[in-house]
Amino acid sequence: MKFTFAAIFAAAAACLVSAAPSHPIGQRATPLAKVYSSCTKNNTVALTFDDGPYVYMYDISKALVAAGAKGTFFVNGNNYECIYNDNGKRVKYLYDKGHQLASHTWAHKDLTTLTWDQIHDEMWRVEEALLKITGAYPAFMRPPYGNYNDLVRQASYVRGQSLAIWDLDSEDSLGATVAQSKKIYTDAIAKKPKNILALNHETIETTAHQIVPWVIAQLQNKGYKLVTLAECLGVDAYQSVASPATPDSTWHC
Ligand SMILES: [Zn+2]
Repeated sequence: MKFTFAAIFAAAAACLVSAAPSHPIGQRATPLAKVYSSCTKNNTVALTFDDGPYVYMYDISKALVAAGAKGTFFVNGNNYECIYNDNGKRVKYLYDKGHQLASHTWAHKDLTTLTWDQIHDEMWRVEEALLKITGAYPAFMRPPYGNYNDLVRQASYVRGQSLAIWDLDSEDSLGATVAQSKKIYTDAIAKKPKNILALNHETIETTAHQIVPWVIAQLQNKGYKLVTLAECLGVDAYQSVASPATPDSTWHC
C-alpha cells in the first residue's frame, strides 16, 4: 500500500490530472473496492457525519468525547465550506480527539456522472487536504448521495480505499424533523440489531445539538459501544499516518 500511496502522491504533486493512476490493462481488469454497508463487530454503533467540515464539528465532538464515544466524519474539501483555514483547525482537532476522518470527496459531486480522471481528481484533492492537515491518508470514502458504480469502485480500489455506505439513515438531510429522526433511531434500536452504521450530517444544527446527545444516551443505555467505523469493522482507519504539513500558500480551495 505504501508504494501505491507514494506513487499517487508523486504523480499528484507534479500535476493534478496525473493523480489518476494509469490502468494500462484496462478498467475491466481493475478489481472493485469493497463496499461496507454495516458494521461487523457485535454491540457496536458507528455514528457517521457527512458534508463537513462545518461549524458544529466541535459541539459534536464534545458530546461524543464527554460520553467516551468516537465518531466518524466523512469530510468534503469544498462543500458547505472550504476544508482549509478555520475548518482545517476543526479537522485537526477531531483527528487529535481520536475520531475517524474519511473522504466524502472534494465538491460533493455525483461520482457516477464523472469520467475516470474526474473521479480521481474529486478523490485526490480531499485526500491531499487531509494529508496536509493531519498527516493521515484515509482508508475510507463515502460517495456523495451514496451513489457509486463500477468505475467509482475501481478508482477507490486503485487508491487503496473501501466504500462506506450505511444501514440507518437519520434522514436529517432529507428534511426529517428531530422527532422523525429520533423515531428512526428508536425503531431501529427496538429491533435489537447486532450493530448499527448510522448516517447523519454534521452540517445540520439540530443533528449536532439535539439528535447527537440524545442518541448517544439511547445507544449507551442499550449497551452499545460507540466506536469509529474502522473499529466497528476491525480494520485500519488510515492507509498511512505521518506528521502534518506546515500551512503554506497551497492551503486554499
Ligand atoms: Zn453528503
